[in-house]
Amino acid sequence: MDYQHYFAKRISDLKSEGRYRIFADLERQCGRFPVALNHRDGKVHEVVVWCSNDYLGMGQHPEVLAAAHEAIDRCGAGAGGTRNISGTNHYHVLLEQELAAWNAKEAALLFTSGYVANQTALSTLGSTIPGCVIFSDELNHNSMIEGIRQSRAPKHIFRHNDPESLDEALSAYPKETPKLVVFESVYSMDGDIAPLSALCDVAEAHNAMTFVDEVHAAGMYGAEGSGVSERDGVRHRMTVIQATLAKAIGVVGGYIAASSSLVDYVRSFGPGFIFSSSLPPMVAAAALASIKVLRRSPEIRERHQERAATLKRRLTELSIPVMDSVSHIVPVMVGNAALCKQASDLLLKKHGIYVQPINYPTVPVNTERLRITPTPLHTDEMMDHLVKSIASVWDELDLHKAHHAKSAAAE
Ligand SMILES: *Cc1c(COP(=O)(O)O)cnc(C)c1O
Repeated sequence: MDYQHYFAKRISDLKSEGRYRIFADLERQCGRFPVALNHRDGKVHEVVVWCSNDYLGMGQHPEVLAAAHEAIDRCGAGAGGTRNISGTNHYHVLLEQELAAWNAKEAALLFTSGYVANQTALSTLGSTIPGCVIFSDELNHNSMIEGIRQSRAPKHIFRHNDPESLDEALSAYPKETPKLVVFESVYSMDGDIAPLSALCDVAEAHNAMTFVDEVHAAGMYGAEGSGVSERDGVRHRMTVIQATLAKAIGVVGGYIAASSSLVDYVRSFGPGFIFSSSLPPMVAAAALASIKVLRRSPEIRERHQERAATLKRRLTELSIPVMDSVSHIVPVMVGNAALCKQASDLLLKKHGIYVQPINYPTVPVNTERLRITPTPLHTDEMMDHLVKSIASVWDELDLHKAHHAKSAAAE
Protein backbone atom coordinates (compact mmCIF):
# COMPACT_ATOMS: atom_id res chain seq x y z
CA MET A 1 0.00 0.00 0.00
CA ASP A 2 1.09 3.54 -0.77
CA TYR A 3 0.24 4.94 2.65
CA GLN A 4 0.90 8.62 1.91
CA HIS A 5 -1.17 8.45 -1.26
CA TYR A 6 -4.05 6.90 0.69
CA PHE A 7 -4.01 9.69 3.30
CA ALA A 8 -3.88 12.40 0.62
CA LYS A 9 -6.72 10.81 -1.34
CA ARG A 10 -9.01 10.63 1.68
CA ILE A 11 -8.30 14.27 2.47
CA SER A 12 -9.00 15.36 -1.08
CA ASP A 13 -12.34 13.50 -0.87
CA LEU A 14 -13.20 15.53 2.23
CA LYS A 15 -12.37 18.72 0.36
CA SER A 16 -14.55 17.84 -2.61
CA GLU A 17 -17.43 17.10 -0.22
CA GLY A 18 -17.02 20.61 1.21
CA ARG A 19 -16.37 19.37 4.73
CA TYR A 20 -12.61 19.72 5.07
CA ARG A 21 -12.02 21.48 8.37
CA ILE A 22 -10.04 24.70 8.47
CA PHE A 23 -9.21 26.04 11.93
CA ALA A 24 -9.37 29.77 12.57
CA ASP A 25 -5.93 30.78 13.93
CA LEU A 26 -6.86 32.92 16.93
CA GLU A 27 -5.09 34.85 19.66
CA ARG A 28 -7.58 35.49 22.42
CA GLN A 29 -7.15 38.89 24.04
CA CYS A 30 -7.28 38.73 27.80
CA GLY A 31 -9.37 41.63 29.10
CA ARG A 32 -11.12 42.11 25.75
CA PHE A 33 -13.33 38.99 25.52
CA PRO A 34 -15.05 38.23 23.12
CA VAL A 35 -12.54 40.06 20.88
CA ALA A 36 -9.64 38.04 19.44
CA LEU A 37 -6.92 38.43 16.83
CA ASN A 38 -7.23 36.23 13.76
CA HIS A 39 -4.03 35.31 11.90
CA ARG A 40 -5.04 34.88 8.28
CA ASP A 41 -3.20 35.13 4.93
CA GLY A 42 -0.05 36.46 6.62
CA LYS A 43 -1.94 39.30 8.32
CA VAL A 44 -3.56 39.88 11.69
CA HIS A 45 -7.25 40.83 11.83
CA GLU A 46 -9.35 41.78 14.84
CA VAL A 47 -12.55 39.70 15.10
CA VAL A 48 -15.48 39.32 17.49
CA VAL A 49 -15.89 35.66 18.42
CA TRP A 50 -19.53 34.50 18.39
CA CYS A 51 -19.03 30.74 18.66
CA SER A 52 -16.98 30.22 21.81
CA ASN A 53 -17.87 27.54 24.34
CA ASP A 54 -16.30 29.79 27.00
CA TYR A 55 -19.99 30.62 27.39
CA LEU A 56 -19.63 33.10 30.24
CA GLY A 57 -16.16 34.51 29.57
CA MET A 58 -14.84 32.86 32.75
CA GLY A 59 -11.57 32.00 30.97
CA GLN A 60 -10.44 35.54 31.67
CA HIS A 61 -12.26 36.34 34.92
CA PRO A 62 -9.86 38.22 37.26
CA GLU A 63 -10.41 35.78 40.17
CA VAL A 64 -9.74 32.80 37.89
CA LEU A 65 -6.53 34.36 36.57
CA ALA A 66 -5.36 35.32 40.06
CA ALA A 67 -5.89 31.74 41.26
CA ALA A 68 -3.96 30.33 38.28
CA HIS A 69 -1.08 32.77 38.84
CA GLU A 70 -0.92 31.99 42.53
CA ALA A 71 -0.92 28.22 41.92
CA ILE A 72 1.77 28.38 39.25
CA ASP A 73 3.95 30.46 41.59
CA ARG A 74 3.41 28.05 44.48
CA CYS A 75 3.41 24.67 42.68
CA GLY A 76 4.99 25.13 39.24
CA ALA A 77 3.69 24.09 35.84
CA GLY A 78 2.73 20.41 35.87
CA ALA A 79 1.30 17.98 38.43
CA GLY A 80 4.26 15.60 38.22
CA GLY A 81 2.47 12.31 37.85
CA THR A 82 -0.67 10.25 37.75
CA ARG A 83 -2.99 10.72 40.70
CA ASN A 84 -1.60 7.58 42.34
CA ILE A 85 2.08 8.29 41.81
CA SER A 86 2.83 11.76 43.23
CA GLY A 87 0.35 13.62 40.99
CA THR A 88 -2.39 14.39 43.53
CA ASN A 89 -1.93 18.05 44.33
CA HIS A 90 -3.89 19.69 47.14
CA TYR A 91 -5.78 21.78 44.54
CA HIS A 92 -7.19 18.56 43.05
CA VAL A 93 -8.50 17.52 46.45
CA LEU A 94 -10.07 20.94 47.06
CA LEU A 95 -11.60 20.98 43.58
CA GLU A 96 -13.14 17.51 43.97
CA GLN A 97 -14.67 18.57 47.30
CA GLU A 98 -16.08 21.70 45.67
CA LEU A 99 -17.49 19.72 42.72
CA ALA A 100 -19.20 17.26 45.06
CA ALA A 101 -20.77 20.04 47.13
CA TRP A 102 -21.77 22.03 44.04
CA ASN A 103 -23.56 19.02 42.56
CA ALA A 104 -25.10 17.96 45.91
CA LYS A 105 -23.30 14.61 45.68
CA GLU A 106 -21.12 12.75 48.19
CA ALA A 107 -18.03 12.75 45.99
CA ALA A 108 -16.51 13.82 42.68
CA LEU A 109 -13.64 12.67 40.47
CA LEU A 110 -11.48 14.73 38.09
CA PHE A 111 -10.41 13.68 34.60
CA THR A 112 -8.15 15.40 32.07
CA SER A 113 -11.19 16.31 29.95
CA GLY A 114 -14.94 15.92 29.76
CA TYR A 115 -14.35 13.50 26.91
CA VAL A 116 -12.19 11.25 29.08
CA ALA A 117 -14.69 11.53 31.95
CA ASN A 118 -17.48 10.13 29.75
CA GLN A 119 -15.35 7.56 28.00
CA THR A 120 -13.76 6.23 31.19
CA ALA A 121 -16.79 6.30 33.46
CA LEU A 122 -19.11 4.65 30.91
CA SER A 123 -16.64 2.04 29.67
CA THR A 124 -15.72 1.14 33.26
CA LEU A 125 -19.30 0.85 34.53
CA GLY A 126 -20.51 -0.96 31.40
CA SER A 127 -17.66 -3.46 31.29
CA THR A 128 -17.30 -4.31 34.97
CA ILE A 129 -20.90 -4.58 36.25
CA PRO A 130 -21.85 -8.18 35.41
CA GLY A 131 -24.65 -8.33 32.82
CA CYS A 132 -25.01 -4.54 32.59
CA VAL A 133 -27.13 -3.24 29.67
CA ILE A 134 -26.80 0.38 28.46
CA PHE A 135 -29.61 2.58 27.09
CA SER A 136 -28.40 5.63 25.16
CA ASP A 137 -30.18 8.67 23.66
CA GLU A 138 -29.73 8.65 19.87
CA LEU A 139 -28.12 12.10 19.88
CA ASN A 140 -25.57 11.45 22.61
CA HIS A 141 -22.11 12.95 22.19
CA ASN A 142 -19.28 10.95 20.64
CA SER A 143 -17.46 10.66 24.00
CA MET A 144 -20.43 8.74 25.43
CA ILE A 145 -20.79 6.61 22.32
CA GLU A 146 -17.11 5.67 22.53
CA GLY A 147 -17.34 4.85 26.23
CA ILE A 148 -20.38 2.65 25.62
CA ARG A 149 -18.73 0.97 22.64
CA GLN A 150 -15.56 0.24 24.63
CA SER A 151 -17.59 -1.27 27.46
CA ARG A 152 -18.85 -3.97 25.05
CA ALA A 153 -22.06 -4.02 27.09
CA PRO A 154 -25.25 -4.74 25.09
CA LYS A 155 -26.74 -1.37 24.17
CA HIS A 156 -30.07 0.05 23.03
CA ILE A 157 -30.54 3.43 21.40
CA PHE A 158 -33.75 5.23 22.39
CA ARG A 159 -35.37 8.07 20.44
CA HIS A 160 -34.05 11.52 21.27
CA ASN A 161 -35.52 12.95 24.48
CA ASP A 162 -38.30 10.35 24.36
CA PRO A 163 -39.20 8.70 27.73
CA GLU A 164 -41.70 6.37 26.00
CA SER A 165 -39.07 5.02 23.66
CA LEU A 166 -36.78 4.52 26.68
CA ASP A 167 -39.56 2.73 28.55
CA GLU A 168 -40.11 0.41 25.61
CA ALA A 169 -36.40 -0.48 25.43
CA LEU A 170 -36.12 -1.02 29.20
CA SER A 171 -39.26 -3.18 29.25
CA ALA A 172 -37.44 -5.91 27.29
CA TYR A 173 -35.39 -6.72 30.42
CA PRO A 174 -36.35 -8.07 33.83
CA LYS A 175 -36.05 -5.72 36.77
CA GLU A 176 -33.00 -7.60 38.14
CA THR A 177 -30.87 -6.90 35.03
CA PRO A 178 -28.36 -4.10 35.82
CA LYS A 179 -29.13 -1.13 33.56
CA LEU A 180 -27.58 2.24 32.85
CA VAL A 181 -29.51 5.02 31.07
CA VAL A 182 -27.30 7.65 29.41
CA PHE A 183 -28.37 11.10 28.17
CA GLU A 184 -27.40 14.77 28.07
CA SER A 185 -29.25 17.72 29.58
CA VAL A 186 -28.58 20.45 26.98
CA TYR A 187 -27.91 19.17 23.45
CA SER A 188 -25.45 21.65 22.06
CA MET A 189 -26.13 21.62 18.32
CA ASP A 190 -29.93 22.12 18.50
CA GLY A 191 -30.05 23.83 21.90
CA ASP A 192 -32.88 21.61 23.17
CA ILE A 193 -33.13 20.36 26.76
CA ALA A 194 -33.96 16.81 27.90
CA PRO A 195 -37.07 16.05 30.00
CA LEU A 196 -34.89 14.97 32.93
CA SER A 197 -37.66 14.31 35.41
CA ALA A 198 -39.63 12.11 32.97
CA LEU A 199 -36.48 10.17 32.02
CA CYS A 200 -35.80 9.58 35.74
CA ASP A 201 -39.39 8.38 36.27
CA VAL A 202 -38.90 5.73 33.59
CA ALA A 203 -35.41 4.73 34.74
CA GLU A 204 -36.58 4.37 38.35
CA ALA A 205 -39.56 2.25 37.35
CA HIS A 206 -37.08 -0.23 35.83
CA ASN A 207 -34.51 0.09 38.63
CA ALA A 208 -31.96 1.55 36.18
CA MET A 209 -29.06 3.88 36.98
CA THR A 210 -29.01 7.32 35.29
CA PHE A 211 -25.97 9.07 33.81
CA VAL A 212 -26.39 12.69 32.66
CA ASP A 213 -23.89 14.75 30.65
CA GLU A 214 -24.29 18.37 31.83
CA VAL A 215 -21.38 19.65 29.74
CA HIS A 216 -23.48 22.40 28.09
CA ALA A 217 -25.31 23.27 31.29
CA ALA A 218 -22.70 23.27 34.09
CA GLY A 219 -22.16 26.87 35.21
CA MET A 220 -25.31 28.05 33.44
CA TYR A 221 -28.51 26.51 34.86
CA GLY A 222 -29.90 26.23 38.39
CA ALA A 223 -29.69 28.66 41.33
CA GLU A 224 -26.00 27.89 41.93
CA GLY A 225 -25.39 26.99 38.30
CA SER A 226 -24.50 23.31 38.58
CA GLY A 227 -26.78 22.37 35.69
CA VAL A 228 -30.28 21.53 34.50
CA SER A 229 -30.55 18.73 37.09
CA GLU A 230 -30.28 21.42 39.75
CA ARG A 231 -32.77 23.70 37.97
CA ASP A 232 -35.27 20.84 37.65
CA GLY A 233 -34.73 19.57 41.21
CA VAL A 234 -33.61 16.10 40.10
CA ARG A 235 -29.95 15.93 41.12
CA HIS A 236 -30.70 13.29 43.76
CA ARG A 237 -32.27 11.14 41.03
CA MET A 238 -29.12 11.15 38.87
CA THR A 239 -26.76 8.29 39.67
CA VAL A 240 -23.91 10.13 37.89
CA ILE A 241 -23.63 13.78 36.89
CA GLN A 242 -20.82 14.36 34.37
CA ALA A 243 -19.52 17.67 32.99
CA THR A 244 -16.52 19.64 31.78
CA LEU A 245 -14.35 22.38 33.26
CA ALA A 246 -13.60 23.64 29.73
CA LYS A 247 -16.84 25.31 28.64
CA ALA A 248 -18.75 27.68 30.95
CA ILE A 249 -16.14 27.15 33.70
CA GLY A 250 -13.58 28.46 31.22
CA VAL A 251 -10.54 26.26 31.95
CA VAL A 252 -10.00 22.57 31.02
CA GLY A 253 -10.72 19.14 32.53
CA GLY A 254 -13.75 17.00 33.26
CA TYR A 255 -15.52 15.37 36.20
CA ILE A 256 -18.15 13.02 37.47
CA ALA A 257 -20.11 13.60 40.69
CA ALA A 258 -21.90 10.67 42.35
CA SER A 259 -22.08 8.57 45.53
CA SER A 260 -18.81 7.94 47.40
CA SER A 261 -18.91 4.27 46.49
CA LEU A 262 -19.44 4.85 42.76
CA VAL A 263 -16.72 7.52 42.63
CA ASP A 264 -14.33 5.27 44.55
CA TYR A 265 -15.18 2.45 42.12
CA VAL A 266 -14.33 4.49 38.98
CA ARG A 267 -11.22 5.86 40.76
CA SER A 268 -10.12 2.28 41.44
CA PHE A 269 -11.09 0.56 38.16
CA GLY A 270 -11.14 3.29 35.44
CA PRO A 271 -8.10 3.02 33.11
CA GLY A 272 -8.53 6.57 31.69
CA PHE A 273 -8.32 7.88 35.22
CA ILE A 274 -5.62 5.58 36.57
CA PHE A 275 -3.12 5.68 33.71
CA SER A 276 -3.10 9.37 32.78
CA SER A 277 -1.19 12.20 34.49
CA SER A 278 -3.34 14.59 36.46
CA LEU A 279 -4.27 18.15 35.52
CA PRO A 280 -1.71 20.89 36.26
CA PRO A 281 -2.33 22.40 39.73
CA MET A 282 -2.86 25.84 38.15
CA VAL A 283 -5.71 24.40 36.09
CA ALA A 284 -7.37 22.89 39.16
CA ALA A 285 -6.91 26.17 41.08
CA ALA A 286 -8.40 28.20 38.21
CA ALA A 287 -11.39 25.87 37.87
CA LEU A 288 -11.96 25.98 41.64
CA ALA A 289 -11.97 29.80 41.60
CA SER A 290 -14.30 29.84 38.58
CA ILE A 291 -16.86 27.54 40.24
CA LYS A 292 -16.79 29.65 43.42
CA VAL A 293 -17.58 32.77 41.37
CA LEU A 294 -20.32 30.98 39.41
CA ARG A 295 -22.02 29.55 42.51
CA ARG A 296 -22.59 33.02 43.95
CA SER A 297 -23.35 34.85 40.67
CA PRO A 298 -26.87 34.22 39.35
CA GLU A 299 -26.65 37.63 37.63
CA ILE A 300 -24.10 36.21 35.16
CA ARG A 301 -26.62 33.48 34.22
CA GLU A 302 -29.47 35.99 33.93
CA ARG A 303 -27.48 38.23 31.63
CA HIS A 304 -26.44 35.16 29.58
CA GLN A 305 -30.06 34.07 29.05
CA GLU A 306 -31.09 37.64 28.21
CA ARG A 307 -28.36 37.92 25.54
CA ALA A 308 -29.43 34.62 23.93
CA ALA A 309 -33.15 35.49 24.02
CA THR A 310 -32.49 38.93 22.54
CA LEU A 311 -30.40 37.54 19.70
CA LYS A 312 -32.99 34.86 18.88
CA ARG A 313 -35.74 37.50 18.82
CA ARG A 314 -33.80 39.93 16.65
CA LEU A 315 -32.79 37.32 14.08
CA THR A 316 -36.30 35.85 13.98
CA GLU A 317 -37.73 39.34 13.32
CA LEU A 318 -35.59 39.41 10.16
CA SER A 319 -36.82 35.91 9.13
CA ILE A 320 -33.36 34.44 9.66
CA PRO A 321 -34.08 30.70 10.29
CA VAL A 322 -33.18 30.40 13.98
CA MET A 323 -33.86 26.83 15.13
CA ASP A 324 -36.22 26.59 18.09
CA SER A 325 -33.59 26.27 20.81
CA VAL A 326 -34.79 26.64 24.43
CA SER A 327 -31.27 27.20 25.75
CA HIS A 328 -28.43 29.73 25.47
CA ILE A 329 -27.43 28.26 22.09
CA VAL A 330 -28.61 30.06 18.93
CA PRO A 331 -28.35 27.71 15.92
CA VAL A 332 -29.15 29.21 12.53
CA MET A 333 -29.99 26.72 9.78
CA VAL A 334 -28.24 26.95 6.42
CA GLY A 335 -28.82 23.38 5.21
CA ASN A 336 -25.90 23.10 2.78
CA ALA A 337 -22.20 22.52 3.55
CA ALA A 338 -20.74 24.79 0.88
CA LEU A 339 -23.13 27.66 1.59
CA CYS A 340 -22.56 27.32 5.31
CA LYS A 341 -18.82 27.66 4.77
CA GLN A 342 -19.34 30.64 2.44
CA ALA A 343 -21.59 32.37 4.98
CA SER A 344 -18.99 31.87 7.68
CA ASP A 345 -16.19 33.11 5.38
CA LEU A 346 -18.14 36.25 4.47
CA LEU A 347 -18.89 37.02 8.10
CA LEU A 348 -15.21 36.67 8.93
CA LYS A 349 -13.60 38.42 5.99
CA LYS A 350 -16.13 41.16 5.30
CA HIS A 351 -17.61 41.80 8.74
CA GLY A 352 -14.95 40.80 11.30
CA ILE A 353 -17.27 38.23 12.87
CA TYR A 354 -16.15 34.69 13.64
CA VAL A 355 -18.84 31.97 13.61
CA GLN A 356 -17.47 28.55 12.67
CA PRO A 357 -19.59 26.57 10.15
CA ILE A 358 -20.95 23.35 11.68
CA ASN A 359 -20.87 20.54 9.15
CA TYR A 360 -21.12 16.74 8.98
CA PRO A 361 -20.26 14.60 10.97
CA THR A 362 -20.97 17.01 13.84
CA VAL A 363 -24.50 17.43 12.42
CA PRO A 364 -26.32 15.40 9.71
CA VAL A 365 -25.82 16.25 6.04
CA ASN A 366 -28.23 18.99 4.85
CA THR A 367 -28.58 20.43 8.36
CA GLU A 368 -25.33 22.42 8.20
CA ARG A 369 -25.66 25.50 10.33
CA LEU A 370 -24.09 28.48 12.06
CA ARG A 371 -24.07 27.91 15.80
CA ILE A 372 -23.98 31.23 17.64
CA THR A 373 -23.20 31.42 21.35
CA PRO A 374 -23.86 34.87 22.80
CA THR A 375 -22.15 35.51 26.13
CA PRO A 376 -22.82 38.04 28.90
CA LEU A 377 -19.85 40.00 27.52
CA HIS A 378 -21.28 40.58 24.03
CA THR A 379 -22.46 44.21 24.02
CA ASP A 380 -25.52 45.71 22.31
CA GLU A 381 -23.20 47.28 19.72
CA MET A 382 -21.64 43.89 18.95
CA MET A 383 -25.10 42.39 18.59
CA ASP A 384 -26.29 45.21 16.29
CA HIS A 385 -23.30 44.55 14.08
CA LEU A 386 -23.86 40.78 14.11
CA VAL A 387 -27.54 41.03 13.20
CA LYS A 388 -26.88 43.51 10.40
CA SER A 389 -24.02 41.40 9.05
CA ILE A 390 -26.02 38.17 9.08
CA ALA A 391 -28.88 39.88 7.24
CA SER A 392 -26.44 41.15 4.62
CA VAL A 393 -24.83 37.70 4.18
CA TRP A 394 -28.28 36.08 3.87
CA ASP A 395 -29.11 38.50 1.03
CA GLU A 396 -25.74 38.20 -0.64
CA LEU A 397 -25.87 34.38 -0.76
CA ASP A 398 -29.65 34.27 -1.20
CA LEU A 399 -30.00 31.85 1.74
CA HIS A 400 -33.42 30.51 2.60
CA LYS A 401 -35.51 32.36 5.15
CA ALA A 402 -38.17 29.82 6.07
CA HIS A 403 -38.65 29.10 9.76
CA HIS A 404 -37.83 25.96 11.67
CA ALA A 405 -35.65 23.06 10.72
CA LYS A 406 -34.98 19.86 12.57
CA SER A 407 -31.61 18.20 13.10
CA ALA A 408 -29.34 15.80 15.06
CA ALA A 409 -25.88 14.94 16.61
CA ALA A 410 -23.34 17.07 18.45
CA GLU A 411 -19.72 18.04 19.06
C1 LIG B 1 -17.45 19.09 24.53
C2 LIG B 1 -18.27 17.93 25.01
C3 LIG B 1 -17.72 16.91 25.79
C4 LIG B 1 -16.24 16.80 26.00
O1 LIG B 1 -15.80 17.72 26.97
P1 LIG B 1 -14.28 18.23 26.88
O2 LIG B 1 -13.99 18.73 28.23
O3 LIG B 1 -14.26 19.28 25.81
O4 LIG B 1 -13.45 17.04 26.50
C5 LIG B 1 -18.55 15.95 26.34
N1 LIG B 1 -19.88 15.95 26.12
C6 LIG B 1 -20.45 16.90 25.34
C7 LIG B 1 -21.92 16.87 25.12
C8 LIG B 1 -19.66 17.91 24.75
O5 LIG B 1 -20.22 18.80 23.95
